[in-house]
Amino acid sequence: MYEIAIVGAGTAGASAALFTAKAGKKTLLIDNDKGMTKRAWVENHYGIMEISGPELVEIGKKQAEKFGAELVNATVTNLVKTDNGIRLETDNGEYEAGQVIICTGAAVDLAEKAGIRLKEGTEPRIQRVIDVDPDGRTNIEGVWAAGTVAGVSVHTIITAGDGARVAINVISELNGERYVDHDVMPRNN
Ligand SMILES: Cc1cc2nc3c(=O)[nH]c(=O)nc-3n(C[C@H](O)[C@H](O)[C@H](O)COP(=O)(O)OP(=O)(O)OC[C@H]3O[C@@H](n4cnc5c(N)ncnc54)[C@H](O)[C@@H]3O)c2cc1C
Repeated sequence: MYEIAIVGAGTAGASAALFTAKAGKKTLLIDNDKGMTKRAWVENHYGIMEISGPELVEIGKKQAEKFGAELVNATVTNLVKTDNGIRLETDNGEYEAGQVIICTGAAVDLAEKAGIRLKEGTEPRIQRVIDVDPDGRTNIEGVWAAGTVAGVSVHTIITAGDGARVAINVISELNGERYVDHDVMPRNN
């Protein structure tokens, strides 16, 4: 049983997993390596002069794993509400989590199958997205969404930021108070 499972390890999902794992939440990150970012060359991500999409995503996954997120290669085929949380059915076994964040990029097939409400997209080439509230909640309790699939502007800095934002909202809800993750410069002796 995981506290938080994240579907999709693109910029949104890996960013979310980095925050939830660093917050000490038992985190599962499931991905099937079909994201759009593997085709990108990025020169507009604040703080990075230039980077290939695949490298950006690989670094993100490594950051999430560094803080304890468990990365699984699989396709999530359905999400089913249970007494304890959400069951994630995949092409390689089942998992259970208290909370799920969907970060599947341009793919809405999983959300549709799980009965999650969709709406028309606003961004170029993104036809349908998950209908989320301002915090990232979907119409199914315990299921959240972030990044392209949640309708934000399709840029790495924004999808990564949205993954972090929704993760912070999930962590805050679990903790019962607003969460902040600030590390401080080490002092020179
Ligand atoms: C050709 C191209 C060039 C681009 N250039 C730039 C650029 O220069 N600057 C910029 O800011 N942005 C650029 N982008 C956009 C950028 O890639 C996206 O904004 C952003 O990275 C999308 O992040 P995401 O996490 O929402 O989706 P993705 O990166 O697509 O990640 C979604 C992940 O979910 C996984 N997934 C989907 N469904 C399932 C499932 N059922 N089970 C398990 N895993 C699943 C996928 O495998 C994928 O890894 C470009 C995009 C393209 C296509």
